[in-house]
Amino acid sequence: MKRFASVWLGGWWLVGCATGAEPERTSESTFGADDLTHRPVSGNITHYDYAFDLATGHATAGFEVHAATGGNCFSAGLQLPGVTGATWNGAAASATVASNAAQICGTTIASEAPLTITAGVTIPKQTFLNLDIGFSTKRDMSGGNFTYLMGWVGGCGHLGPCDAAPSRLASYHFQVTHAPTEVVLCPGALTPGVGMTQCSLGMGGGTGALAPTYSAFALASDPLWQRRPFVTAAGVDVVFYEVPAGRIASFLDPASVAGFLTWITGLLGPYPYGTELRYAGAPTRWLGFEHPANIILDQKLPFSGPYQDSGMHALMHETIHQWAGDRTTIASVLDFGWKEATAEYLAYVFEDEQRPDGEAAVTLQYWSAVSLDAAHFIRPTDQPAPALQDFYLDVYGPGGMMYVQLESLLGRPAVLAGIQRFLTDPGARSVDDLRQALELASGTNLAPYFNAWVFGAGKPEVPTFAIATSQVGNQVHVTVTQQNPTNKRYGCKLEIEVRGATTSAVALVDFGVAPASATASATVTLAEPVVDTVFEPRHRAIGRVAGAPAVRASVTPWPL
Ligand SMILES: [Zn+2]
Repeated sequence: MKRFASVWLGGWWLVGCATGAEPERTSESTFGADDLTHRPVSGNITHYDYAFDLATGHATAGFEVHAATGGNCFSAGLQLPGVTGATWNGAAASATVASNAAQICGTTIASEAPLTITAGVTIPKQTFLNLDIGFSTKRDMSGGNFTYLMGWVGGCGHLGPCDAAPSRLASYHFQVTHAPTEVVLCPGALTPGVGMTQCSLGMGGGTGALAPTYSAFALASDPLWQRRPFVTAAGVDVVFYEVPAGRIASFLDPASVAGFLTWITGLLGPYPYGTELRYAGAPTRWLGFEHPANIILDQKLPFSGPYQDSGMHALMHETIHQWAGDRTTIASVLDFGWKEATAEYLAYVFEDEQRPDGEAAVTLQYWSAVSLDAAHFIRPTDQPAPALQDFYLDVYGPGGMMYVQLESLLGRPAVLAGIQRFLTDPGARSVDDLRQALELASGTNLAPYFNAWVFGAGKPEVPTFAIATSQVGNQVHVTVTQQNPTNKRYGCKLEIEVRGATTSAVALVDFGVAPASATASATVTLAEPVVDTVFEPRHRAIGRVAGAPAVRASVTPWPL
């Protein structure tokens, strides 16, 4: 790791670099600005133009601003120690870096006038939060070097000046200079070349929709990747990039992948990022990441992950994010849960409707198990707000279950119609926006359901249900009572299996979305004496039976 020290030298900040490299000139007090009064331009970054040298880690990080107000300085987030050679509408500009922001100043512009800024940055080989955030090189399973540059939610400042708010959608152009042997991938429409690879996203001409920085600000490279067209369906050319030892594509069924693309585009509309969708295997921390048109998958798939077919599940999950997360993004960091819930749930629906028997059941079993250990609500309301790295693992299981429980209450068509409505237009959406879309699709007030299961502070309690039966002849009356220390009543429709010695029946005990009572009951027919009952044999609700020992899940959440 480089260590930096700054000294003030008569108008120039010099940053000394302990590795012995040339000192970087990071700022100058007045040079380039037309007067000494800093008047901030307020506005959003609408476009990024990022020229990166893979070998040196140096980038010329450019961006365009939509200036809502005029001024002569613009501040952008930056989690790097300094910038060099800043320009403001093509002219040399001053730049100062402090408090995780770069302030760049030039000649005064009027509101609505064009503003293009560039700054030189050098990205250290360093990762953050024990994740792949930052710039890293790792050995792949065939002995090649996988190089990854990515920011995640709130992290694009590790790569250059940017607006890290996840709600912002922008266009991008990447130009990567690299060794001729490198195979470089970047989000959007890809133009490979020997020693130079470019990508364009959201710039018109078939380059697709806009995207947030958390997924679009990323590059990946591996000299051992082999490009292999896999299948074409629903206007999408699926292409795999794997190293020779990679087995992801070989374990996937092209007809099933094609069927999935036909199904998901039928539900959510045409694929938003051009005509090509790339999947690349790599040694990553997560099972997958949804860079637009450029999905990175764990190189060990399908032999890692908790699903019956983890390769297909991860492929579907990241593909669903092209709409749910990329084209339509999250309104805030705390709204992260809806994009994972939606990617998980829609993958489950396809498993249930068009994949081999048992696949969807394994997904439910996994979600319901890890949900018992969740330490945060799907949409945390804690004060102060938890950091994303502290709560994101808690959303995968409960997020999928949030939808499955609603399926039991409202029916799958209403849930799918709500998701369809929620994702119709690009933009930024909150978890509460999702609630409203589901309400419009179902004609049902879902505030009590969301307030019980989705919004909340602290560790969610595991809903507890006492089950009692009484039998007269072949009629078994099943009574379920919610017994929760918080006195919350959880909207749900439960399946209780009533077992005799040789046969069984399932009672559907419906509390509704807003239970008026802690008790609900149902009657089923069983032609022999009741021996025992089983709570949720298909794992379609989060909960446990009163008096049963609290069990911890034997698996942990797998982020993807
Ligand atoms: Zn995901």
